[in-house]
Amino acid sequence: MRVDVLIIGAGAAGLMCAIGAGQRGRRVLVVDHANKVGKKILMSGGGRCNFTNLGVTPAQYLSANPHFATSALARYTPWDFIALVEKHRIAYHEKELGQLFCDDSSKQIVRMLLDECAAAGVSVEANCGVQHVRKTPEGFSVHTARGEVHAASLVVASGGLSVPSMGASGFGYELARQFGHAVLPTRAGLVPLTLSGKHQEHYRDLAGVALPLVETRVGKRGFRAGLLFTHRGLSGPAVLQISSYWQPGADLRIDLLPDQDAGDWLIGQRHARPLAELKAVLGDALPKRLAQRLCEQWLDSRPMRQYRETELGQIGAQLKSWPITASGTEGYRTAEVTLGGVDTDGLSSTTMQSKLVPGLYFIGEVVDVTGWLGGYNFQWAWASGRAAGEVA
Ligand SMILES: Cc1cc2nc3c(=O)[nH]c(=O)nc-3n(C[C@H](O)[C@H](O)[C@H](O)COP(=O)(O)OP(=O)(O)OC[C@H]3O[C@@H](n4cnc5c(N)ncnc54)[C@H](O)[C@@H]3O)c2cc1C
Repeated sequence: MRVDVLIIGAGAAGLMCAIGAGQRGRRVLVVDHANKVGKKILMSGGGRCNFTNLGVTPAQYLSANPHFATSALARYTPWDFIALVEKHRIAYHEKELGQLFCDDSSKQIVRMLLDECAAAGVSVEANCGVQHVRKTPEGFSVHTARGEVHAASLVVASGGLSVPSMGASGFGYELARQFGHAVLPTRAGLVPLTLSGKHQEHYRDLAGVALPLVETRVGKRGFRAGLLFTHRGLSGPAVLQISSYWQPGADLRIDLLPDQDAGDWLIGQRHARPLAELKAVLGDALPKRLAQRLCEQWLDSRPMRQYRETELGQIGAQLKSWPITASGTEGYRTAEVTLGGVDTDGLSSTTMQSKLVPGLYFIGEVVDVTGWLGGYNFQWAWASGRAAGEVA
């Protein structure tokens, strides 16, 4: 079989690239080894797909080259994707912080992409793995489960390593290395953190306890959002966000009362409730079980009038900088994204084309560009897919 553009991976980036190339009249084939296309889109956003974010800027992406994503993101914006969603009459809403979700189901986004592919004459094949790829004078010869495919352009959109049960594979990285590209070390991002030893012992039975607003911090980076205790550690959006900046041994701090001057508040409480114990007072601002546990394990609990103001100031400072030691992450099994990947130094930031091998492109999560939680990763997949689709 002979095509102009062969795309490996029928996820967000691959399908978007296929639409762009197909609309330019190119003969496009998208192959995916999974039994269904767009599996991550289907499972995303709790089944409602957080398909973009109104506040997208390059600052919300991690990459060894922080400027790499700028061009593609500027040329295909959240508004371009919203226009597509509206054209297909998919109802959506802003949940918070610019995050846009389908009102109904992520299936609508996959349907929309496949309808656009069909309209652009693109063929999409599921259950079609790729065994190996060879460079030929005319382009690429790709050995797939359905036979040999010859393509002038080859687009690698095979995603990262997160959630292997959804079809994730390291194939894109292997292919990049095969063609001489550097691959930066990968690790799980947007992932729950685990605790071990006494930290795990102390907090394990708080699994299910949630705080609506904390601020997680690693170095200068901080995220204000919710936190959830799990059986093995910590999750919730504030933890997932900071996990992408956390490395083993990094000092993780959590401000448990981000909207308060905790010391002043405690001093005020001492005047208002001198006989109340510290744990009861803290139980008004934090989940009661957490307040009790913090007092058992970390702060002692006496009637408020027995504390000096300086002591309350210190306790307030401790609550604003809880030093919880994470031992690791839950890993790729539950991570939303993979950090690292194909080094952007080897790619054109306007077209995603390899600087080493003409006709070879890398798009989406396989590239060393990783967004924050909140629709940023799909926007990168759409934008990088579009950039390659305009030229491949
Ligand atoms: C649970 C979960 C929820 C998420 N929710 C959101 C969200 O709401 N908003 C957001 O912005 N981001 C979200 N993300 C992240 C987002 O899904 C990814 O960043 C995005 O899907 C990346 O797109 P991609 O096309 O690069 O890769 P993928 O969508 O992973 O697609 C890659 C495709 O390549 C295929 N493939 C892999 N290897 C091969 C091979 N050897 N041969 C053939 N095919 C292959 C895979 O089967 C897959 O279909 C979520 C991720 C997870 C895991």
